[in-house]
Amino acid sequence: PRTARIAVIAGDGIGTEVIPAGIDVMHRAAGMDGCTLEFTEFPWGCEYYQRTGTMMSADALDILSDFDAIYLGAVGAPGVPDHVSVWELILPIRQRFDQYVNLRPMRLLQGVPGPLAGRSPADIDMVCIRENSEGEYSGLGGRMHRGTKHEVAEQTGLFTWRGIDRIARYAFELAQRRPRKLLASATKSNALQHSMVLWDEVVESVAADYTDVTCRKYHVDALAARMVTHPQTIDVIVSSNLFGDILTDLGAAISGSLGVAPGANINPERTHPSMFEPIHGSAPDIAGKGIANPIASIWAGALLLDHLGMTAAHDRMVRAIERVVGEGGPRTPDLGGTANTRDVAAAVTDALS
Ligand code: NAD
Ligand code: MN
Repeated sequence: PRTARIAVIAGDGIGTEVIPAGIDVMHRAAGMDGCTLEFTEFPWGCEYYQRTGTMMSADALDILSDFDAIYLGAVGAPGVPDHVSVWELILPIRQRFDQYVNLRPMRLLQGVPGPLAGRSPADIDMVCIRENSEGEYSGLGGRMHRGTKHEVAEQTGLFTWRGIDRIARYAFELAQRRPRKLLASATKSNALQHSMVLWDEVVESVAADYTDVTCRKYHVDALAARMVTHPQTIDVIVSSNLFGDILTDLGAAISGSLGVAPGANINPERTHPSMFEPIHGSAPDIAGKGIANPIASIWAGALLLDHLGMTAAHDRMVRAIERVVGEGGPRTPDLGGTANTRDVAAAVTDALS
């Protein structure tokens, strides 16, 4: 039994609806082992930005550094440019805390009506290990002759040997622990002859240390197609920042809904807090209606507890999700049901055992 301190940034839109649901389930799941969770909520996000001109307070990163983990909903609101919400909140947290692994499970849960005909949960069970600290989201670049017809924009991807080596090792180690021991490296070295050729070379050199893992490289476009046509052949994926961003929304879609897909931003060395979030955004189209699917956030909360060593609570939460989804429990409209966020959260809490 132990106590963990968790910083909560529910953020905007449906973030403020699904995060309270996740907190309820986490409290109950951890409490069943005598563990106590202390949640501290921070009001950062687009509303805060509209009031103050910044997405977070100036000392936000120092404040967050004292917590055991961070639980994030989503940020983004009409009226605030998306690059502001991303670059002033999510990316600073990922970068300051060196959360260089973005781990995203993509599983078709029993009972979920996925969009791929004839596919069962045995066919769709993948994890993407997305590089989360550099690559295409380095922030480097600029615009010239702004606002004229001579305007030029340059966006630079930054790939380092060390950055690729550490993400590849994390992915190989995960693949090694899974029964199929397969790793798909997402590349595009045919067209990106600098960054992705380095990517391929480093992944190949790391592969030599993990000879029990079968590693294959796929061009990212072909891999996207393969995830739809032959999902059963994919186990662990290792990818750059942009490629993983795209592949994991695709993975969420073939798992039934963005509303079920969790993500973990991990600092494997544990020198800084890690951050756990649903991979979806603030969904302004359904915000305020109370019908957002809380499963992605509940599952992200389970990953958070697992990271803190509360493995039993993690397993209990995932089993409860599987039970509610698989045994005809309440479902939100994205999964074809008519239930609301609270109904689903309450059903998952009741199914904890
Ligand atoms: P989105 O993920 O918010 O929504 C895409 C679609 O999926 C919408 O139709 C939405 O209703 C649906 N959806 C998403 N989550 C759902 C859930 N839990 N239950 C049911 N349906 C769900 O992506 P978007 O529309 O491209 O972006 C909206 C805003 O969110 C933008 O401001 C964007 O920048 C932001 N965003 C933030 C994050 C983040 O905070 N990590 C991630 C992605 C997008
Ligand atoms: Mn995304």
